[in-house]
Amino acid sequence: MSETPGQDGRDAGSPHPLLSAPLVDQPGVGPKAAGDLATLGLTRVWHLLTHLPMRYERHEAEAPVAELEPDRIVSARGTITATRLAGRGRKARYEAVLMDGDGRLDLVWFNMPFMRDKVRVGDRVRVHGKTKQRGPGLQIANAKVEHLEGEEAPPEDERVRPVYPASERINSARIEKIAQSVLPGAIGVIEDHLPESFLRERKMPALGEAYRLVHFPEDDDDAPRGRRRLAYDELLLFQLGVQLKRAHLRTALRAPALKHSAEIDKHIRSRFGFELTPSQDKVLEELVADLTREVPTNRLVQGDVGSGKTVVALYAMLMAVAGGHQAALMAPTEILAEQHAAGIGRMLEGSKVRVGLLTGAKNAAERTALLEDLREGRIDILIGTHALLTDRVRFKSLGVAIIDEQHRFGVHQRAMLRAKEDDEGSTPHMVVMTATPIPRSLALTLFGDLDVSTIDRKPPGRAEIKTRLVTPEQRAKVYQYARERLDQGERAFVVAPAIEQGSTETAAVGPLAKELAEGPWRGVEIGILHGQLHPRDREATMEKFRTGAIQALVATTVIEVGVDVPEATMMLIESAERFGLAQLHQLRGRVGRGDQPSLCVLIGAPTTDDAIARLQAVASSSDGFKLAEKDFEIRGPGEVFGSRQSGAAPFRVADLARDLELLTMARRDAADWTRRSPALDAPDEALLRRRVAKAHGEALGLADVG
Ligand code: ADP
Ligand code: MG
Repeated sequence: MSETPGQDGRDAGSPHPLLSAPLVDQPGVGPKAAGDLATLGLTRVWHLLTHLPMRYERHEAEAPVAELEPDRIVSARGTITATRLAGRGRKARYEAVLMDGDGRLDLVWFNMPFMRDKVRVGDRVRVHGKTKQRGPGLQIANAKVEHLEGEEAPPEDERVRPVYPASERINSARIEKIAQSVLPGAIGVIEDHLPESFLRERKMPALGEAYRLVHFPEDDDDAPRGRRRLAYDELLLFQLGVQLKRAHLRTALRAPALKHSAEIDKHIRSRFGFELTPSQDKVLEELVADLTREVPTNRLVQGDVGSGKTVVALYAMLMAVAGGHQAALMAPTEILAEQHAAGIGRMLEGSKVRVGLLTGAKNAAERTALLEDLREGRIDILIGTHALLTDRVRFKSLGVAIIDEQHRFGVHQRAMLRAKEDDEGSTPHMVVMTATPIPRSLALTLFGDLDVSTIDRKPPGRAEIKTRLVTPEQRAKVYQYARERLDQGERAFVVAPAIEQGSTETAAVGPLAKELAEGPWRGVEIGILHGQLHPRDREATMEKFRTGAIQALVATTVIEVGVDVPEATMMLIESAERFGLAQLHQLRGRVGRGDQPSLCVLIGAPTTDDAIARLQAVASSSDGFKLAEKDFEIRGPGEVFGSRQSGAAPFRVADLARDLELLTMARRDAADWTRRSPALDAPDEALLRRRVAKAHGEALGLADVG
């Protein structure tokens, strides 16, 4: 960030010196506390400011132990004077006596052996829980315990207390105390990037006030009010970023307007061995409208596994080639890139279109020759992995860039691929494809800068896929049954989570293939496929499976995305509880691609609630959209889209499942805002603009805007 002073003596957007100051210099923070805070990654004042409580507890005023009454939820404090472990097995319990002057309170914890290490004789503690009459005295079962440090005064009245994410080294109560001494000053210097009138209309507190409300709530409504502003703020900044990006694409960048005619259309379609479905045609119509304009296309094509996205992509690429430009197709795995190259190569056999394949596996000489051909325009369509993104890859004239299975890449990679403009500074049309259907609200948020087309029907004649959930005890039967179908000439995938045996519980490709070859599948041609094989061996194995020379393929999840062998009818997944929901659906999508009835068997011993819910969801539905919603429900959006790898928006406060209302509001507000001020460049928008760029600039590829 620049150091140039702005109107108020600082650069707009750079934090106030107090906010960026080290915590160790602050009142009430000694070197020990600073070291402990650092274990949570908190070293500067603004780190602490944005270290938000995860929940709140209402603390009653504490009463002397002697005055406690039965059947009340109470808080009390005192010293532990005795402990003992009693009972055994399921009845094991840990007991302690808490004394406060001459008041005695009995404590007991059931099935919590770890309390032994937590509560010891001599400890000064505050306990919280419900009192019960036990003989002459009172007892609290499974009380919450907080250790008191030094002589903290007991609260005089009931109040709401924040519970902070803490660590071994520093607990929530200490963080709270430090926050109380450091944050009030910091909150005083926070500048808001939104105008007062704007906030008033939305009944939202100013930014500083919002932080005060979440850190120091005085009653039950405070924290939610503060949180609402902070969540809205994140969503608004992101949406503004997305809008800026869109505006930039529209106005500042040019792509080649591709030609389209009935003749070109006929020519391209003649290459496909089938008629396109109405669903594919509809998407193509949208795509052709995009590609024939100079405004760079930025479209997401989503469609469930097997819906036929590849030909749509190929159509777009051939339009580029017909117009004298090049096209690129980027896939997340080498196997998929190899398969695309083989499949597209087959469709284009006998045509003049030249297809190149660039993966990490190429040797230096091959690579140099390929890149040279590319730069000179001797390659029309380049297919590859991330390797496409490296600087050395230069096109003569890239007209269309496709990213397959976009959810495996980040928004960032999209920006990098787009940056492969040609010498005349023209940018490619971008089409990204995904089989991970995204609930609509999320698609709009996370891919808000994209137009969305959906292939909502699969090609006709697809037989249904039966999905069965079985326990490991039923394995033998499953393989026996599958064997009978293999003997009829069918083909099967068997998927295991690991390559070699690591633990005894997890199935592994090597041992599994051996077990099958020597046992139930003796005499069947079995191949092995995983990421550590040489690409040449991998290609050879895939080709043999495609032609039927190999009948069963034992593989890791390298076959998860995109692999397309219509003759494969069985998918057997070992240790299925190890896989995610979307992953299982993708794996299942490898079968049911032809007209033969297909079978997917999930062999698993799920032990957690999540794993059970996941397997049952996959077994009960084959609708990718429904499953995506379900996945979202089970894991939450943070997990589903939270990884940097998926390029999801990094929201700390906003929860996309919960904050839909705020999301809608933020989208609308951002759209209105950029309509009034498309570049966000009014003088009083400087702070806002900086904060948008800072929060989302990199992820959205806004560097060129900022
Ligand atoms: P995905 O959407 O999962 O990427 P693919 O593009 O791999 O799906 O297509 C799945 C299979 O369906 C391929 O074998 C492809 O050739 C075939 N296919 C695609 N479109 C049609 C169609 N209109 N009619 C018949 N088969 C089709
Ligand atoms: Mg595909």
